[in-house]
Amino acid sequence: MPSNLSKELYSAVEAGGEEQATQAYMAIRRGARDAANEPIQPKVAPFIDTKRCSGCGRCVAACPERIITLETENHRKHAIITEPQQCSNCGACVTACPIEAISSVPFSP
Ligand code: SF4
Ligand code: SF4
Repeated sequence: MPSNLSKELYSAVEAGGEEQATQAYMAIRRGARDAANEPIQPKVAPFIDTKRCSGCGRCVAACPERIITLETENHRKHAIITEPQQCSNCGACVTACPIEAISSVPFSP
């Protein structure tokens, strides 16, 4: 017999596929985290395409966790995420980027 968590995920997959299951998983984990007063531990942070990045710094300014910085490589700047484990998965960096150099925000377990 699956756990309550598994049952909710199975239902979400049946209803809407992977995206819906991801959202359901996030909501469940957030509830568990709030109850335990523990921080979210994301699996991964958003992906920055450093070749595409123009180094404008908008994502750096937008990140509430202050975990994005600019790095110079081969005489050009690009953004990097310094502490992906601290990412709160807010999506602000994705929204801030004017050239879509930051791709989708993965879910937090
Ligand atoms: S998703 Fe939010 S917390 Fe994570 S790197 Fe982007 S702006 Fe920062
Ligand atoms: S907002 Fe986009 S282009 Fe600007 S530094 Fe961040 S990733 Fe690079």
